[in-house]
Amino acid sequence: MRDHDILIAGAGPAGGALALALRGSGLRVAILDARPRSTAAEDPRPLALSNASRLILERLDLWRALTPNTPIDRIHVSQRGGFGRVELSAAAAQLPALGYVVDYTRLAGLVSASLQGGWCEYLPATTVSRVSFEDDAAAVELKTGEDMRLMRIGLLVIADGGMQEDVNDDVRIIDYRQTALTARVTTTEVHAHVAYERFTPEGPLALLPSGDGLALVWSTTPERAERLCAAPAAQFLGELQQAFGNRLGRFTAVERRGMFPLALRVARETASSRTVRVGNAAQALHPVAGQGLNLGLRDAWELSEELRRAPRAVIGAPELLARYSARRRFDRTGGIWFTHGLARIFSGDYAPLKLTRGLGLAALAALPPAQDFLVRRMSFGARG
Ligand SMILES: Cc1cc2nc3c(=O)[nH]c(=O)nc-3n(C[C@H](O)[C@H](O)[C@H](O)COP(=O)(O)OP(=O)(O)OC[C@H]3O[C@@H](n4cnc5c(N)ncnc54)[C@H](O)[C@@H]3O)c2cc1C
Repeated sequence: MRDHDILIAGAGPAGGALALALRGSGLRVAILDARPRSTAAEDPRPLALSNASRLILERLDLWRALTPNTPIDRIHVSQRGGFGRVELSAAAAQLPALGYVVDYTRLAGLVSASLQGGWCEYLPATTVSRVSFEDDAAAVELKTGEDMRLMRIGLLVIADGGMQEDVNDDVRIIDYRQTALTARVTTTEVHAHVAYERFTPEGPLALLPSGDGLALVWSTTPERAERLCAAPAAQFLGELQQAFGNRLGRFTAVERRGMFPLALRVARETASSRTVRVGNAAQALHPVAGQGLNLGLRDAWELSEELRRAPRAVIGAPELLARYSARRRFDRTGGIWFTHGLARIFSGDYAPLKLTRGLGLAALAALPPAQDFLVRRMSFGARG
């Protein structure tokens, strides 16, 4: 006898979205998180959500509570010290917006609030300490403080945001030797709902419109990120001005600085014996082009569709996991290589690379169908 059909380990945006997508399905769902119930995920990263993510969050009844957010009407792409620039626009692509900027902390708070109320078993401050497999179930040992509990389930979904413990052949890791420095900044010019992606030799620098100010995601060397994170505001703003230029006037204030070391981590298999990975637990990407959570929400949504239509006895069975993995392969592989390619091509000061980048941007600027393809890819994924 199983205690639950599905146990989701990790109640972040991807795991939480999966649980919410299963609400009302009749499946017995439990979800746990290492974080205690009272602790909000204080995380300074901004998130640019795509149109597909908006549709998913609308269906999960989370979108209204995420309003107001900041729509992106245009994206301006350029490289520092090189020619070539391109501007993508929502109007040209006939979309309501190219994306929407929200705070990670706000989204994570809404997700964990929605998990309460008794429609699923929500276990804060809990981790999985051991898993063993039986013919028709997985037996999972859970640890909450000093308490241990055994739970028998049909499927374990790993949504813990990482593969820290899996430093083995099952995970492919490429260290970008970059750290993303995040902050909120203000400028003398208004952002007018334009997002800026500026490629610098040390890594891409993004400024996203966010309320009255801008959210910065500046990928640079770990040493510089560490120094700037602790630097006096005037020095921080001076170096940011130099890296970004004057397109938004003068930078006037900075707050909420944070740092995220960057690596590509890809699980070779997303599913195996009664276990499946979603979100960053399946693939953690460079933040260039803001694809990570957008891909993770599509993982969660498509897994929920497979689970909803499966007979209860098949939950966790190899045929269901194989179907899910096959269904996600194209979008997932496309997202990984699109992001990795951008991170690689648009970093470095090597002259031929700079020329290639300039030619690429100039070609994109001259080819509206290519812009349309890029916008649809970023908005809806590889199947967009
Ligand atoms: C600087 C930066 C900017 C980004 N910008 C964007 C963007 O613009 N657009 C976009 O789509 N993506 C962006 N991303 C990527 C995005 O943040 C991730 O893809 C997303 O947070 C993944 O969600 P998740 O739920 O899979 O993992 P997480 O957000 O990491 O959540 C994991 C959850 O699991 C819990 N947990 C951790 N370990 C355990 C454990 N052992 N047991 C139980 N629970 C555990 C955590 O407490 C947490 O609640 C950005 C990332 C960075 C670093």
